[in-house]
Amino acid sequence: MRLRFAPSPTGYLHVGGLRTALYNFFLAKQSKGALILRIEDTDQNRLVPNAEENLIKMLSWAGIDFDEGPHINGDYGPYRQSERLSIYKKYYLQLIETGSAYPCFYSEQRLKDLETGKLSSEDATIEDTVFQDFNLSDTLQKMETENFVVRLKIPNHDYLNFNDLIKGSIKFDLNLINDPIIIKSDGFPTYHFANVIDDHLMQITHVIRGEEWLPSIPKHIILYQSLGWSPPHFGHLPLLLNNDKSKLSKRKNDVSVESYIKKGYTKESLINFLSLLGWHEKGDREFYYLNELIESFSLDRVNKSGAIFDVQKLNAFNNHYIKHYQFDQFKKLLSPFIPKDWIITQDMLDLVKDKAVTLCDFNNLLSFLFSDYLSFSNANIEILQSVIGRSVLQSFLMNMKNTNSLKEIAQLVQKDTNCAPKEFWNTIRIALTGDSHGPALDMIINIYGKDKVKSRITDALNL
Ligand code: GLU
Repeated sequence: MRLRFAPSPTGYLHVGGLRTALYNFFLAKQSKGALILRIEDTDQNRLVPNAEENLIKMLSWAGIDFDEGPHINGDYGPYRQSERLSIYKKYYLQLIETGSAYPCFYSEQRLKDLETGKLSSEDATIEDTVFQDFNLSDTLQKMETENFVVRLKIPNHDYLNFNDLIKGSIKFDLNLINDPIIIKSDGFPTYHFANVIDDHLMQITHVIRGEEWLPSIPKHIILYQSLGWSPPHFGHLPLLLNNDKSKLSKRKNDVSVESYIKKGYTKESLINFLSLLGWHEKGDREFYYLNELIESFSLDRVNKSGAIFDVQKLNAFNNHYIKHYQFDQFKKLLSPFIPKDWIITQDMLDLVKDKAVTLCDFNNLLSFLFSDYLSFSNANIEILQSVIGRSVLQSFLMNMKNTNSLKEIAQLVQKDTNCAPKEFWNTIRIALTGDSHGPALDMIINIYGKDKVKSRITDALNL
């Protein structure tokens, strides 16, 4: 199989784009085929500086290896569409010569009217039908000097039957489709044209992409037919949806992979989560590492209908993977998310990792271990300064000298002060951590060591 991921460099890698790239990657690896990265940069108005670099960085962060692409070359390049203009020219001239496409000539004024919206693109499409019948040699000559766009002729009064690897068979009514522009007035191809030419010339066997491209299928198939080429196999992946079933959108959700990385989601959880959006094996297995996904993925278990991007589920995956990391690896991963001078131990992580949803959470969860002084809420200050609170703290300091066992200290303090067990635990917890909820106290005391416990209790007494 030869597969491709063909993003437009419009600024960032969309989570849906990463899912598409992953599925293509799984299939390429499974089949020992090739995965190609092609940059679809023919829309010059939407170019964003560094977008390509950023895309490549994110894809390699996810562990997706390409066999060919602008960053590694290959036998079918160039892999940026903006560098392939002469190739497209050859094929649009061929389509004009065979009568499958026609150039439509535009005066400067008409172009301007189209640009400003004074002439709608629907009206232009209808008006442009006058160019359908043309004399080839006059027209080729005119193309040397005048502004033109090229339109593909869609055969009328016909249906197109199409079989999608995921969606099954679909019938398109060609009467509903206008002749699309394949070459724009700036000489650049439109997405449809460049995409088809490149998929063919790069010998792509399977096009696996988002469902939003399904309506383009008739145009693509007609292009293949008009050029006398047989189309690749197509599979259109289900849309990603918000919880309310609307299409996942920038307005309602973070959609860039980078923002999830910044928010402290791990690679393993994001990849696992995205891969299960629209695909699952028989049974209810949930957790997969990348190599397991490569082994298990299959197109025939991709769903037809939309998949809900449920952040709660992503959170659960993230917590799972955080808990399963090896310590050294995890320390590295965590370092951008915590102050540089914190020296983290396995015990510290064990103390809080059940509570951590993202890597960002560790800053808060661990800060009490590292801060010189704890801060307390007014309610907690009241507890520490109450008569019983103070006696618990004093007695704790005294009894610490006699034993190392927290259980024994607790018994001795309760005997000394007559406090209820709850009063003991709550007071000591607040004094040691600043909070009345949190991880097991004996673990905290272990991490602190005797001196730090003493200084925390003394600080609480001196409030
Ligand atoms: N350039 C298109 C995109 O940005 C590619 C669509 C396709 O895979 O054909 O998603």
